[in-house]
Amino acid sequence: MEKKIRVRFAPSPTGALHIGGVRTALYNYLFAKRNGGDMVLRIEDTDSTRYVEGAEEYIIEALAWLGIKFDEGVSYGGKFAPYRQSERKEIYKKYVKQLLDEDKAYYAFDTPEFLEEKRLQTPNFQYDASTRGFMQNSLTLSENEVKNRIANGEKYVVRMKIEPNEDVLVNDLIRGEVRINSSILDDKVLWKSADELPTYHLANIVDDHLMEITHVIRGEEWLPSAPLHILLYRAFGWESTMPSFAHLPLLLKPDGKGKLSKRDGDRLGFPVFPLDFIDKKTGEKASGYREAGYFPEAVINFLALLGWNSGTEQEFFSMQQLIDTFSLERCSKSGAKFDYEKGKWFNHKYLQIKPAEELAKYLLPIFNEKYPDNPQFSIFNFQFYSKLILAIDALKERAAFPKDLFDLLLFFFVAPVDFPENDVKKRWKEETPKYLTELLSVLESIQDFDNEELAEETVKVWCEAQGYGLGNVMNPFRLTLAGEMKGPQMFVITKILGKEETIKRLRYALETLK
Ligand code: GLU
Repeated sequence: MEKKIRVRFAPSPTGALHIGGVRTALYNYLFAKRNGGDMVLRIEDTDSTRYVEGAEEYIIEALAWLGIKFDEGVSYGGKFAPYRQSERKEIYKKYVKQLLDEDKAYYAFDTPEFLEEKRLQTPNFQYDASTRGFMQNSLTLSENEVKNRIANGEKYVVRMKIEPNEDVLVNDLIRGEVRINSSILDDKVLWKSADELPTYHLANIVDDHLMEITHVIRGEEWLPSAPLHILLYRAFGWESTMPSFAHLPLLLKPDGKGKLSKRDGDRLGFPVFPLDFIDKKTGEKASGYREAGYFPEAVINFLALLGWNSGTEQEFFSMQQLIDTFSLERCSKSGAKFDYEKGKWFNHKYLQIKPAEELAKYLLPIFNEKYPDNPQFSIFNFQFYSKLILAIDALKERAAFPKDLFDLLLFFFVAPVDFPENDVKKRWKEETPKYLTELLSVLESIQDFDNEELAEETVKVWCEAQGYGLGNVMNPFRLTLAGEMKGPQMFVITKILGKEETIKRLRYALETLK
């Protein structure tokens, strides 16, 4: 029987999850589901200096919002629990000891100050086979000395003993063969006595092994770590169960020049995080797709295509369609430009296929937030709600976000009080009051006001009979109803406003503008 596919998403809780990390989670999910596999959420929190409160909860909430589901892991449970690395301290100790016992790792006592000095003295200083013989470690000190130092509570780290001049082959499912020579690697720290915690490298490998991970799919920034990881698998004797690697292309700035960063988002005005996040310590704020009014389906569709293509012309994919078509072979090697406008476009498209009733659910909270004291704006007010549904259908074509839609249709519910000077100057002529006063009577005479064709026909016939240019009547009419020169077709507006309100607004404008 084929081995069950198992992947993991293994973020470090160091702040809001970057959109590139979301894409990594998504591709892991698609790959797992496509292949009937399981996906694990592991929290890699062994670096206490970078730990940010709330980041773990944030990651879980963000992925749940997007519909990326885990089979096991932090907050999901499972047979390999605990899934939070800070709770697995004892497990790692055992494996560090194994490497030490087998001479594949060693104790090192060099202080951070000493190492800093070395780096200043020797450019590109590397702690490796060529230098370890001159440092304070269990390879240079006597066994007794090492024992004493440890017994006296001296701080130490455990370093991997990397043999030089060995070719390490990373067989990447996206990039093909990447060969590197072990001489360029340094003797990475695997464990620190100061906090009794492993570093990322050791914990990552031990957990991937213990959790029976078959595929490691992660961002390109981890590719340089892969050779060390492979050497660790070898050192433990786990080569036969070593996972396959796939390193995803970088997300690039919109202009393609360099890696996408939070600053690009701030500078160009788009989110690079799934949800809003405020770092409690620094007060730094990150803005998210959810709060900016994106639909999760649109974000998923957009992200799926940043680094993968189906090989067809198809642009719209539901999560299920993505699962049905995803493959690592179709992931690109080169970086993907973060085309923010495309993201907006997707949201616009997804907004179009949402029924008005669903969009109303997004708009009601905006009404309540802006008009907290107006009980009219409620789903229980039938008149308001039915008008809202009509207004949504009349205007959604022009909106990319619920907030846009709100701005576009607000005039249906809040009558204009004053009118922009520019529009007035341009549209309100000397004879306008005369035309509109007559129009008032014409409108009053219309019995079936809801019939927009009839209303339009009646007004047009009157206009023609009087020899008034249609624009000279319609433009100021629009201004009186919408408060600006905007909005949908005029008789869609009058229909949604209703006869009474239309006439009321017309009267008000005539009185105010004279
Ligand atoms: N903890 C690493 C991160 O924050 C995991 C990298 C990996 O997937 O191996 O992305």
